[in-house]
Amino acid sequence: MRLTFWGVRGSVATPEVDNERYGGNTPCVEIRLSPKRALLLDAGLGLRWQSNRMLNERSKGNQVEILLSHCHWDHIQGIPFSPMMYLPDNQVVIHGAGYPTRPLLDNLMEQLRPEFCPVPNFFRQEIGAHVRVEQLTSDPWFNALGCRIRWGFLPRGRSATHVVGYRIESKDATITYLTDVEYPDGPEQCKQALELARDTDVLIHDAQFLPDERAETLNRGHSNYEDALRLARIAGARRLLCTHHDPSRSDRELDEVASWLRQLNDVQAEVAHEGLQIQF
Ligand SMILES: [Zn+2]
Repeated sequence: MRLTFWGVRGSVATPEVDNERYGGNTPCVEIRLSPKRALLLDAGLGLRWQSNRMLNERSKGNQVEILLSHCHWDHIQGIPFSPMMYLPDNQVVIHGAGYPTRPLLDNLMEQLRPEFCPVPNFFRQEIGAHVRVEQLTSDPWFNALGCRIRWGFLPRGRSATHVVGYRIESKDATITYLTDVEYPDGPEQCKQALELARDTDVLIHDAQFLPDERAETLNRGHSNYEDALRLARIAGARRLLCTHHDPSRSDRELDEVASWLRQLNDVQAEVAHEGLQIQF
């Protein structure tokens, strides 16, 4: 099993010189289970490059299942531009929740309306890959590509909106993905996040902001590095990878954060960058 970060930038893509080392593509993390099977965490612009790589290796017979945290643009904008969607003899399943009450398929179809998007609607037409949308049900567990997956709603500050967090249990490792989350009463009080991250091998966590930006970023729906560290410590996560970097965060600033994280000796914590791979 191999974990690969294809997009680590939050909110908006940043193809700029100051961001090129950590990367400017919006969120997409791949859990490659075998040469032709992959679970993907979110479908930002990193999805395009993940699809290209997978199709270069094998153009047919791929099975991809995407776990969406929510439908904000930075988490779904790679879907229309993933070449996987347009090649027959491949299978794509997209899991997620509707928002706020509209079914997930309707949300994703909206993105493909011809007023906004020039590509053929692969949900509606018999073209390309076999694409299916699976709305999350009341059951907190489901199976995908041989992995057991638990999901739960996570808060975005004091707002009424929520996102979905995932815990993926495979035979090789457990990976937890919590993004675009803001704990209104601190991570200690978020039972759902604690359960999803309990004793996980890898915790991938939103860290859009710096701890000293807390006051000015309240209720923006994101965490800072301290929140991610606190959750990792309480939950007993073995390794923390911080992601969803703020669009204004330069490589130099992220280097400083990475240096600070390396000095911690009670938790293994890193700043994720595009191309980062972990083999299990
Ligand atoms: Zn986001």
